[in-house]
Formats: sequence, structure tokens, C-alpha cells
Amino acid sequence: MIEITLATSNPHKLDEINKINKNPNIIFKVIEGEFNPEENGKTFEENAKIKAKEAARITKTYCLADDSGLCIDALEGLPGIHSARYAPSQKEKIEKILNELKNVPFDYRSAHFTCCMILTDSDGNVIHKEEGKVFGYIDDSAKGSNGFGYDPIFYLPDYDKTIAQLPEEIKNEISHRANALNPMLKWINDNL
Ligand code: IMP
Repeated sequence: MIEITLATSNPHKLDEINKINKNPNIIFKVIEGEFNPEENGKTFEENAKIKAKEAARITKTYCLADDSGLCIDALEGLPGIHSARYAPSQKEKIEKILNELKNVPFDYRSAHFTCCMILTDSDGNVIHKEEGKVFGYIDDSAKGSNGFGYDPIFYLPDYDKTIAQLPEEIKNEISHRANALNPMLKWINDNL
């Protein structure tokens, strides 16, 4: 049995990570109290490292951080690492993007979610990294109420739905987070 602290206080990430993990020998623990280290890295990887190392400093346990965001091709990759802070509320973040893309035709609205996961040992040394993506398009309005964040505007042609219109089991099979976490879980199982 291996216990790993999740370096996040985002309840949606915690929930998704626990649902994606089907390995009973890997137990994810929540970090106690406020956890809000300054994410001043220039990449998802740098920010994931900041969070994992800070969690290891506090807890002295194995720590896993997820840094993720939405990258829109027509906006040269924005909001990207600024996804969490692109506007004051999630509703305003979505409105801002829909407004920025209002004259952009569907074929040019391609986007992807990225998730970078960093695992540290209890001394804060990075011992493994995985990156996962999911590709789609930005819809012309928000649809659906499942998931979180930008899910209501992220359209998947294979399902003809936004991620927020999909059941959570499907999101947790195909998401950027699943595409990073599944190989991470395999690495943990094989190496720790
Ligand atoms: P982080 O906590 O710095 O990694 O910020 C991630 C931000 O990216 C979140 O606040 C969301 O706005 C967005 N994001 C990350 N993952 C997802 C997802 O699975 N669905 C929708 N939005 C996401």
C-alpha cells in the first residue's frame, strides 16, 4: 500500500483523480488546510513542480501535483497556464473566451486541455512526470452542467457533446487528467 498526498485544494481535481484511480494499493490523501503556493512558473510543468515540492515540504510524504489548463489555438495557446485566473469568476472566464472567439468559425476553434502531473518523493525530489491531453473545439455557447471549469464550452466531435454534457465516467476515461494519471498510476505501481 502506498500513500500519496495530492498537492491541490481543488475539490474537482481530487474527485476526478480518486475516480480515475482503480488501484486499491494506491491511496490518495488530501492536503490539510489552505494550500495555495504562488504558481509563478512559465509552463504547466514548472507550476506542477512548485505545487508538488511545496506539498512535500509541508507533509514529508510522496506528493502528486496536477497543473492543467485550456489552450486555444486561435488565441495562441491562451488561457493556458493562466486558465485559473483568466477572469474573476468561471462564468466570466467562459464569457471572455466566447467573446474573444465570436467571429472565429468552427474549424478555427480547435483547442486542447493539458494536464502535467509531477510526483515527488518525501524530500521533494521529482521522481516522475506525465503529461496528458484531450483535443476538441470551443463551442459557441456553454452547454451542460457536469464537470467543472471550461467543460461547458469544450466540444468533442466524437460525442457531439461538450465535456459538461457527458457522464462523468466518460470524462474520466478520455480526459487530459486520465491521460496523465493512468500512466502515472502504472509507474507508481511498478516502481514504488
Ligand atoms: P490549476 O489549478 O492552476 O491547474 O488551474 C487549472 C484551471 O484550468 C482550472 O481552474 C480550470 O479553470 C481549468 N481546468 C483544468 N482542468 C480542467 C478540466 O478538467 N475541465 C475544465 N477546466 C479545467
